[in-house]
Amino acid sequence: MPSMPSLPSHVDILRTLVGTPSVSSPDPSFDQSNRGVVDHLAELCEQLGFRVEVVPLERSPHKANLIATLGPADQPGGLVFSGHTDTVPYDRDQWHTDPFTLTQRDDGSLFGLGVADMKGFFPCALHAVRTLGAGALKKPVVLVATADEESTMFGAQQLVSEGRRLGRHAIIGEPTGMRPVRKHKGVMMERVLLEGHAGHSSDPSLGRNAIEGMGRVIEALGRVRADFAARYHDASFSVPGPTLNLGKVFGGDSPNRICARCELYFDVRPLPGMLPDAIRAELSRAVQEAIVGLGLSAECGALVDGVPPFETPADSPFVRACEEVTGAASMAVMFGTEAPYLSELGMETVVMGPGDIAVAHQPDETLRVQDLEHATGLYTQLLARFCGA
Ligand SMILES: [Zn+2]
Repeated sequence: MPSMPSLPSHVDILRTLVGTPSVSSPDPSFDQSNRGVVDHLAELCEQLGFRVEVVPLERSPHKANLIATLGPADQPGGLVFSGHTDTVPYDRDQWHTDPFTLTQRDDGSLFGLGVADMKGFFPCALHAVRTLGAGALKKPVVLVATADEESTMFGAQQLVSEGRRLGRHAIIGEPTGMRPVRKHKGVMMERVLLEGHAGHSSDPSLGRNAIEGMGRVIEALGRVRADFAARYHDASFSVPGPTLNLGKVFGGDSPNRICARCELYFDVRPLPGMLPDAIRAELSRAVQEAIVGLGLSAECGALVDGVPPFETPADSPFVRACEEVTGAASMAVMFGTEAPYLSELGMETVVMGPGDIAVAHQPDETLRVQDLEHATGLYTQLLARFCGA
């Protein structure tokens, strides 16, 4: 068997990835390209013999997805290692180290923006491939590195719109402490806009008050929430029902004017099995009913595309294999990932990666060197099982 080429150490790869900023944000003043990270990963993949594709995003051409394949392409099946290349923005004055300089303590703790979420995943996946060796691959291994998971999900959505045939099984290396995760809730961010018309406050009949209408809408949404809670329940989530949070309300200007326009932003976290479009229709119906007779108009809709809920069945052979290799029962998590998109592409998907989600999106984000080594060992076993002899 030909020996695999060498690869920089986990820490050295991570140092370069952390040192290459790739913040994504809906706020253009924070948003950056992910091309530096993608190009570096492409280079490392090429060193290992992968066939590499860098695909610019149609909706954001300065960003790109990476799809790298190693092993016999004519064989179906195989294993996909998938991660996002972007990070969230950061509060520089709250960090005790430079967020873009990987800093290592004597106890093996590493600090830097994105170490856990989720730049640390990539050296683990690459080292797993190098450890098993290209010669041992009977089925292809695919490394996918996406853009914009932290903002628009355009990267994962493009994989779906391209109808990418990537493999049969996928691991998304979001930080789960290497426990297999097979389901999460969805994320929906919605808005309601009510419009009436303004008038002098001394005579209510002169106008149509949108704030009064919003009061009714908020009561109606509370009833929908109670109804969801009665209909849907999944005890594997620490918050076992769907949630609906009122996040922002704004409208009007002056106490002596009838408010003509009021807007509400809220978020819904549906359980697996709840369909976002059906939920949206139900919410919209409740809003329209709430304002009957008030002379107001209502517009309801999504603020962002959102993330569908995700579930891979407990008896999926891939879930079983991840449980066997890790010795941990599969679980549900509260955060959203790209998993629903990979599921839509026909892959049995498990979210499982090094690090702790609790340190993500925070100052002093950290991961331990031993977490990287542990993850690499487990990924190597799964790779041998799903792509090896
Ligand atoms: Zn993440």
